[in-house]
Amino acid sequence: MSAESKKMPKDELEWKKKLTPQQYQVLREKSTEIPFTGKFVHTKDKGMYVCAACGTELFSSDAKFDRGTGWPSFDNPANIQNIELHVDKGFGLTRTEVTCKNCGGHLGHLFDDGPTQTGKRFCINSCSLELKKA
Ligand SMILES: [Zn+2]
Repeated sequence: MSAESKKMPKDELEWKKKLTPQQYQVLREKSTEIPFTGKFVHTKDKGMYVCAACGTELFSSDAKFDRGTGWPSFDNPANIQNIELHVDKGFGLTRTEVTCKNCGGHLGHLFDDGPTQTGKRFCINSCSLELKKA
């Protein structure tokens, strides 16, 4: 077990203290940030995007692309073991929800219309991510 996972909040009250109000809404309550408002929408810096809640490595900047959707998009996770996919039938739609495997935090959704070879588009909220610059 890593030092970071030992520090993992045990309940929602602890999560509220650890995260910003917006991060709490997205990561814990599965909200979606307003398009084009996130800090990483247009970021081209190189590095590793990690879970804002627990620091797990999620997406490499090499997998990031910008198709004008208003959210950071990736064509592949850095490590498939670090994410979990769930069928989400909210809002009358069937979508695939993407969560952090380590902390269960909501990251965004996965779509099958990616522009690269993988055909995948991981549409992720900026506030669920932190960038560790290379
Ligand atoms: Zn996490």
